[in-house]
Amino acid sequence: MKFGTKTIHAGVHPDPATGAIMTPIYQTSTYAQRSPGDHQGYEYSRTHNPTRTALQDALAALENGNYGLCFASGMAAIDAVVKLLKPGDEVISTNDLYGGSYRIFTKIFQQYGIKFTFIPMGDIATVEGHITQNTKMLWLETPTNPLLNIIDIKGAAEIAKKHNILLVVDNTFATPYLQTPLDLGADLVMHSLTKYMGGHSDVVMGALIVKDEDLAQRLAFIQNACGGTPGPQDCFLLLRGLKTLHVRMQRHCENGRAVAEYLQKHPKVEKVLWPGFESHPNHQIAREQMRDFGGMISVVLKGDRQEDAIQVLEKFKYFTLAESLGGVESLCGHPASMTHASIPQAERLKGGLSDSLIRLSVGIEDIEDLLADLEQALG
Ligand SMILES: *Cc1c(COP(=O)(O)O)cnc(C)c1O
Repeated sequence: MKFGTKTIHAGVHPDPATGAIMTPIYQTSTYAQRSPGDHQGYEYSRTHNPTRTALQDALAALENGNYGLCFASGMAAIDAVVKLLKPGDEVISTNDLYGGSYRIFTKIFQQYGIKFTFIPMGDIATVEGHITQNTKMLWLETPTNPLLNIIDIKGAAEIAKKHNILLVVDNTFATPYLQTPLDLGADLVMHSLTKYMGGHSDVVMGALIVKDEDLAQRLAFIQNACGGTPGPQDCFLLLRGLKTLHVRMQRHCENGRAVAEYLQKHPKVEKVLWPGFESHPNHQIAREQMRDFGGMISVVLKGDRQEDAIQVLEKFKYFTLAESLGGVESLCGHPASMTHASIPQAERLKGGLSDSLIRLSVGIEDIEDLLADLEQALG
């Protein structure tokens, strides 16, 4: 199956009881057994639920993996991954990381004796110098949030294999429409399904996808033992959203390109961060590992003043000022004071996250309206 066919058909079968085309919302916590242990594959909905199973199978197919696991949020999925580790283990992660990931690593797991090192990964070869005998996991996201840096997944996978380290890729920004990290050698793909995968800003959910059976079993054990699982209603909404992923992403990419090119020429703009520009430091890697460049764009204003950024954000009509990204509607945000407020300012500036940086999640509205909105807001 090609990608667009998979988004519609993978994992979903007409309901065996009624023939319903759409997987029903199995709103049940438990399942009747004929005799103790004699059941139809479902015992208790924290462990398995048919609506969740359909979604997990669809996600596994889209990422070219063998196993999918869903969680009540992206953070619950991240939580499950780190629980594969033990005190003394070390994780190397990119310094330009989703704020919530940075927070759970440093504020929750560090106190249990797991060590995290945050480094730039623009030149992937430099990662090798940070590996110790305790390094067990390499954690990256690409494109990164919000600086839109690109990290070489294949290069990271080679280093991880050589040192027998697990490579985890947070694929939230790209989605499998743009890149499939498991095909590039990653061991584990993580998603905040809340963003592009759900696509309609109406559900919070997360997922993990792997190829390896043993790893899948260890994660399924954690999923059931710790219990951060989603309900069937949310799984249904996600399945519904996924069916248009390819169409939405195509338009996000087209609109993203138009917005990036418009902003690049604007007199009030200092620089535009978008991997589609040839001037982007890792444009070549983006071309190789991604199908297109996505709809996430960051803009730094001339003078780099936070007040100017806030003024622009307040004037937008169609770009709604809100946390999150990846919905059909355009959103904008100010990472320094919103999503990344939990990262200390010194750390932020060191990583290149300036005070006037505005992050745009370009939606799938008509591009003429979006460009007019940018025009009036930048004034
Ligand atoms: C939103 C997000 C998360 C966290 O996911 P939630 O669904 O909000 O818990 C993790 N990584 C990235 C890149 C995100 O954008």
